[in-house]
Amino acid sequence: MPLISIKNYIDGQLLDPASGNYLENVNPAIGQVYSQVPNSQLDDIDAAVQSAEKAFPKWAGMAASQRAEILRRLADLIDQNRERLVTAESDDNGKPMRLARAVDIPRVSANIRFYAGLSEGFASESHAMPDGINYTLRQPLGVVGVISPWNLPLYLLSWKIAPALAIGNCVVAKPSEVTPMTAYLFSELCIEAGMPPGVLNVVHGGGATTGDAMLTHPGIKAISFTGGTETGEHIARTVAPQFKKFSLELGGKNPNVVFADCDYERTLATSLQAAFANQGQICLCGSRILVQKSLHERFVNDFVSRAKAMKVGDPHEPDSDLGAVVSQPHQQKILQCIETAQQEGGELHCGGSAITVEGRCADGFFIQPTVFTGLSNESQTNQQEIFGPVVTIQSFEDEDQAIALANGTRYGLSSSIWTSDISRGHRMAARINTGVVWINTWMVRDLRTPFGGMKSSGTGREGGQESLRFFTEPKNVFVKY
Ligand code: NAD
Repeated sequence: MPLISIKNYIDGQLLDPASGNYLENVNPAIGQVYSQVPNSQLDDIDAAVQSAEKAFPKWAGMAASQRAEILRRLADLIDQNRERLVTAESDDNGKPMRLARAVDIPRVSANIRFYAGLSEGFASESHAMPDGINYTLRQPLGVVGVISPWNLPLYLLSWKIAPALAIGNCVVAKPSEVTPMTAYLFSELCIEAGMPPGVLNVVHGGGATTGDAMLTHPGIKAISFTGGTETGEHIARTVAPQFKKFSLELGGKNPNVVFADCDYERTLATSLQAAFANQGQICLCGSRILVQKSLHERFVNDFVSRAKAMKVGDPHEPDSDLGAVVSQPHQQKILQCIETAQQEGGELHCGGSAITVEGRCADGFFIQPTVFTGLSNESQTNQQEIFGPVVTIQSFEDEDQAIALANGTRYGLSSSIWTSDISRGHRMAARINTGVVWINTWMVRDLRTPFGGMKSSGTGREGGQESLRFFTEPKNVFVKY
């Protein structure tokens, strides 16, 4: 099969990178290179920024409803092309098609429709004084940069692109070089939807080449980033001295806190999903399970027997619970973390190794769901984000100890609390240091609510008005009577 050649989307056209350099793109379920992705450099970023600067006055000057109309056409095209996008996301990332069909791709059109609507109703403040009035203009920034990771490829890219465009910015977007395919298909759909040239530019390539060229380009006024904490640190160090605005959505090591009075069946089933959905490669995965002592043994036994029963298989098969992890280097990293957990004295209950899936996926990168107990909260395994199908279960006595364990990492992205005592649920939510708290559930997202992390999980919030505020500059005007 000839390799698919992914193109950049610059100035409304699908283009090769100026340098002619490409990276290999692997389908992780079959372990084979199947496309080549531009490794763009400063020339390409510069062309994208110039085109975006040219497009900006007209795009920003349109009525919000005119921009929304174009965005809604794009959302309709996403829905019409759902199966094509589902297959592409699964082949690029290794995730089960079932998951891409239920979560990833529907969220792309939902993100776009949501921000089309919200921007139409966007309002700003006014403050009256006895002798005059202040009003606050919230104007788009100009050309903004968005950089996204590989775990929820088009879902997270569109979560940034949609508010930025809806409120009148022009965008230079860099998807992960590991999963570029759906962003490429998205570019084609933007052309079909009649997006004016330059309003959105999708420039592909590696972090150190394309990404760094974005951070230092003087024409890019803000960076909205989702990815790893170390990359986030680098971005903050690079863009802060240039006084660019930035928002960072970073890693997590999220506690899933189970009290003995929980609704047991629901807790068990959802904790399993929180641990292993998308092969454990969701920033919100509940990778540290904390269980009250009196329930600990029963929970471990049931959790492990259900984890053993999960099917790791071909992502195209409708009954596969887990697909492939995203790449061979990532598979090696996860296996190394499993080795570390064993060296640290963890008791391995299930999984712990790579697995071969027979048939077309024989060369793919699969890992069994893996469960450890017996590791202290201070262990490396409980402190570092693994981002794979590996969870630990610890026990606690009471609320105070649960809080100490839950808050005892550098991260603070999300948490789940399982209890039928609603007062306890509220008490815990108020004391836990995570940007998102779920009580008796996991990963329910209302697009109107603030989303983001504390501590090393990031700075800034996305979602609802938060994203629209990030992508605008407030300017106060005072009029004296
Ligand atoms: P990553 O940080 O390696 O890469 C993310 C993006 O940054 C990619 O597009 C990459 O090319 C780019 N990048 C890398 N180096 C760069 C540089 N020097 N300059 C500019 N851009 C650069 O992360 P990843 O491995 O793709 O994704 C996994 C991580 O993302 C995990 O830590 C996960 O927790 C995190 N994540 C966080 C959220 C959230 O909302 N908080 C959501 C999803 C994933």
